[in-house]
Amino acid sequence: MNGDARAGHDKTIGHDKTIGHDKTIGHDKTIGHDKTIGHDKTIGHDKTTGHDKSTEHGPYGNKTAGHDRLFGDYIQVLRFLFVFLLATTAFASDYCAQMRLWVQAMERDSNAVEITGWQGLTVELRYADTINITGKNIYCSEKRAWAHRDIAYKLQKAIALVQKEHPGNKLHLWDAARPLFAQAVLREAIRGKGLSDYVSSATKGSLHNFGMALDLTAENPDGTLLDMGTDFDSFSPAAGASRRMEDSLVVAGELTARQVANRRIMRSILQRAGLIQLPSEWWHFNGARSAWVYENMQMLGVR
Ligand SMILES: [Zn+2]
Repeated sequence: MNGDARAGHDKTIGHDKTIGHDKTIGHDKTIGHDKTIGHDKTIGHDKTTGHDKSTEHGPYGNKTAGHDRLFGDYIQVLRFLFVFLLATTAFASDYCAQMRLWVQAMERDSNAVEITGWQGLTVELRYADTINITGKNIYCSEKRAWAHRDIAYKLQKAIALVQKEHPGNKLHLWDAARPLFAQAVLREAIRGKGLSDYVSSATKGSLHNFGMALDLTAENPDGTLLDMGTDFDSFSPAAGASRRMEDSLVVAGELTARQVANRRIMRSILQRAGLIQLPSEWWHFNGARSAWVYENMQMLGVR
């Protein structure tokens, strides 16, 4: 409960002081994509193919014009396809280029602890695949995960507790430290959907950008995930993780008692390890009070 109240801060605190600006600009490179689309305007050029129509083609003028129009349409479609392909690959390679830079920065950052390959933790980064709200492979298939050392040791404690109290079960990681460009991509994906409470702007940054948040679920000994009632990044009321919310969701038939019990088993362990639950997302845990993080810490891998 205590954790809930604190974490509730998350949504309200607007410590926009945070760095990050540069990378939002990095994201604007993706808007370089728009420039490519600016290319589309060149397609507008094709309309000038209408030019051909008006040229002096003598008695056959009309036919040639009709032919030109068809041919022009064909060219236009080809150009559109070309620009579309260029734009989509530009997008993908832009993510990959930014991801590479971020990985290098994380390798240099003495506060960043790589948690990939830890015993008792399965790393499945959803943004390193297309199974996420954006449908994009934002991390360019990079499955290495990092966390700030201040949260990493708490994760270590939590894993030890799982191993002691539920031998065979594991924690399962959906996201950890997150590059700022990815924050901008996520924010863009939810724009206009009334979900801004769930995804911080890249200017403010999410605690994930500080490496101070972990998105976790739990695995059964056979590797299947425990049923927690919703998937990752389900921005629905059923993702709510305060006790009162969960109790009312059970009463309303939105969650089963088993699903809530599973959440509470995991939450109890993570809270005893010092992690703080975000009340609107059962999978999200902060390593410290978010107000404190915004005041006192720097984002990971920004330099
Ligand atoms: Zn999260």
